[in-house]
Amino acid sequence: MVYDTIIVGAGPAGLTAAIYTSRAGLKTLVVEDPVILSQAGYACCIENFPGFPEGISGVELLQRFKKQAVTFGTEFLSLVVSKLNAKKDNNQNIWTIKAEGAEYQALSIIIASGARAKRLNVPGEDKFCGKGVSYCATCDGAFFKDKAVAVVGGGNTAIDEALFLTRFANKVFVIHRRDRLRADTILQERAKQDKKIELLLSSSVEEISGSQKVEGLKLKDVNTNNIKDLPCDGVFISIGYIPNTDFAKGLLELNEKERIVVGPEMKTAKEGIFACGDCRNTPLRQVITACGDGAQAAHSCRLYVEDFKGIAYK
Ligand SMILES: Cc1cc2nc3c(=O)[nH]c(=O)nc-3n(C[C@H](O)[C@H](O)[C@H](O)COP(=O)(O)OP(=O)(O)OC[C@H]3O[C@@H](n4cnc5c(N)ncnc54)[C@H](O)[C@@H]3O)c2cc1C
Repeated sequence: MVYDTIIVGAGPAGLTAAIYTSRAGLKTLVVEDPVILSQAGYACCIENFPGFPEGISGVELLQRFKKQAVTFGTEFLSLVVSKLNAKKDNNQNIWTIKAEGAEYQALSIIIASGARAKRLNVPGEDKFCGKGVSYCATCDGAFFKDKAVAVVGGGNTAIDEALFLTRFANKVFVIHRRDRLRADTILQERAKQDKKIELLLSSSVEEISGSQKVEGLKLKDVNTNNIKDLPCDGVFISIGYIPNTDFAKGLLELNEKERIVVGPEMKTAKEGIFACGDCRNTPLRQVITACGDGAQAAHSCRLYVEDFKGIAYK
């Protein structure tokens, strides 16, 4: 069996691509890691995706996307892709994905493998994920109106998130283990001038505590090792994201952040391989942008497959 396209990932990017390729008549297989799920699945309420004025849970949105893809004939497999390979056929590539000992072949591949937030790996982080622990201020900031929150991290994203959170929270602590921030000076200045923001430098989070939801943090002064309690209602962990691109290393060009490099048509430098969503070199990583990317990747993929088969409309 050679599929027209195999899509790696069943998040917003991969599922949108699947809706488009299946609907266009391409024999489509979606492969999804059963352990590292779509980031959207961790969003308890998505309020910025058009069409849902009351908001929608990430899980329900993904279920709807999947149902729509199945309607058009997409097949699904729960497997972890470990490698992409090329095989030559009449001087053209047939692509092979290796997943848990088996191989699947396709004329084209759409990579939509997303990213995962770097974790602090401290007690309480898993327990309170979605109950005060968040990895996305744009997504969850509005739930903390008039509350006290903490942002962990010292880079541009962390300070951006802290500034954004001042729209909702009445107090924003920025916790960074170094004695100075890494963020651009202009952002640092803005943070220092904002009365709601308090910088807690040379501090590391040792534990996230609470009973049903986040109620505070245990902070360590990295110079004295003294531990103190910091009461707060939420903690935004902003120490970076890791794109899920290990399986593409050595085959595709990755940028310095290990994101797959594509142009506006979502084409990689390898003919027949496309990438979309948070795993690619994109400046905004949201559900809506992942969906847009997925649609574009599917369109480029369809043109490629039709050309490959000699049925392109010219
Ligand atoms: C807590 C949280 C809340 C958020 N809230 C919002 C919000 O309110 N609004 C908003 O617009 N955005 C929100 N986001 C961001 C949004 O979820 C992401 O931008 C979006 O999910 C990216 O979609 P994607 O399809 O590119 O990747 P993902 O959603 O990350 O999906 C990646 C897919 O690839 C699969 N995969 C990865 N590696 C492999 C492999 N080796 N083999 C097989 N499959 C693989 C995964 O299983 C998954 O199915 C939030 C993110 C988080 C973490």
